[in-house]
Amino acid sequence: MMNAHGPKGKNTSQLQLENRSTLLKLLRQNSHVCRKELADMSGLTGAAVTYLMRDLIDVGLVAEDREYEGPRNKNAIPLKISYERFLVIGISVRRGQLAWAIADLSGHIIDSGSAGFALTESVDNVLKTIEGLISDYIADYSTKGHIVGIGISVPGPIDLEKGEISYLTNLPGWKAIPVRGYLETKFDIPVMMDEDANAAALAERWLGRGKDYQNLISILVSKGIGSGVIIAGSIYHGTYGLAGEIGHMSIDFEGAQCECGNRGCLELYASVLAVTRRARKLYGAEIDFDTIKEQVALGEPRFTRLVEDAGRYLGYGIANLTYAFNPELVALHGEMTVFGSPWLKSVRSAAAQRLSPEISSRLQIELSTLPADPVLLGTVAMVCEYLFEYPVLERFAGQH
Ligand SMILES: [Zn+2]
Repeated sequence: MMNAHGPKGKNTSQLQLENRSTLLKLLRQNSHVCRKELADMSGLTGAAVTYLMRDLIDVGLVAEDREYEGPRNKNAIPLKISYERFLVIGISVRRGQLAWAIADLSGHIIDSGSAGFALTESVDNVLKTIEGLISDYIADYSTKGHIVGIGISVPGPIDLEKGEISYLTNLPGWKAIPVRGYLETKFDIPVMMDEDANAAALAERWLGRGKDYQNLISILVSKGIGSGVIIAGSIYHGTYGLAGEIGHMSIDFEGAQCECGNRGCLELYASVLAVTRRARKLYGAEIDFDTIKEQVALGEPRFTRLVEDAGRYLGYGIANLTYAFNPELVALHGEMTVFGSPWLKSVRSAAAQRLSPEISSRLQIELSTLPADPVLLGTVAMVCEYLFEYPVLERFAGQH
């Protein structure tokens, strides 16, 4: 898949790819700088920058913006990335649902949709549906821009090396499903794949609050709790993809028994299911999560307290994660974020309580500001990462 050939058919060395990646990333963070400024920032010579830029401009990934009216170096031509000319197809496989999108490299979603499928549906049929969705997008959009890659998010656990869904709990047919391989045989387009929580973290890193951070953790707090850990700019997967499964990190070593075998798992205290379970036990079996949302929105103190308690437990979990990973930013996604400020305040104050003031003052805990579903945006971000980290451009040469 990853042939290292330059846009004119010549071989692109590893070093060239690395330098190209460095320049692209600098330009992403500092739009409208000129070649000289890129040389200063990267430590490359002016001649090298000019040479490398020629390839990027040839394929249309970088453009000179002579009309630019912002602050600029008078005698130099400002450069920018042409995000809108490069497209990504994203597919998010969920339990009983598919979501899809086509977006440009800035994360702007051009088209998207979703549909349910019966859990009894055969795996083959689901894969064929995915193939059909991708074919349609290719047919409709390949004349409008370069399709850089296909990003797939799946519920864990996955086998990253093989590009397989290892299994889906309670779905007997879903075992060792080679999603990536299947799509790579059907389409001549690179396919990236990762788990939901890692996808959301990549979305944060490439398209959200995490743009300026190298070390961040994104936490998805919905029915369960999962996280994606980004260290030095990349997802940390661990030995076999377990890293970030913080829903089963114990915050009470003698606490309630969890299905996973551990006791006092974070998920049992801080998730949507945990809050709903507790509300039912205390205030009536008919209560569901919607009731809780309504009551908290009305300022009902009993329900607000439940939500704050859940936030507190999450804050303790974040304090533990801070000692393990020392992130600059923790970004929160998922259904629990609907509670906004009372919940967030409680998360922050519990974390601060368990960390020294020096540590806690240097840790930001924020609600995500991503404009769309973080997991679906994550499928786009996977391909952004691929292109910016490994900018092999030969597929795009001569197409524009
Ligand atoms: Zn557990």
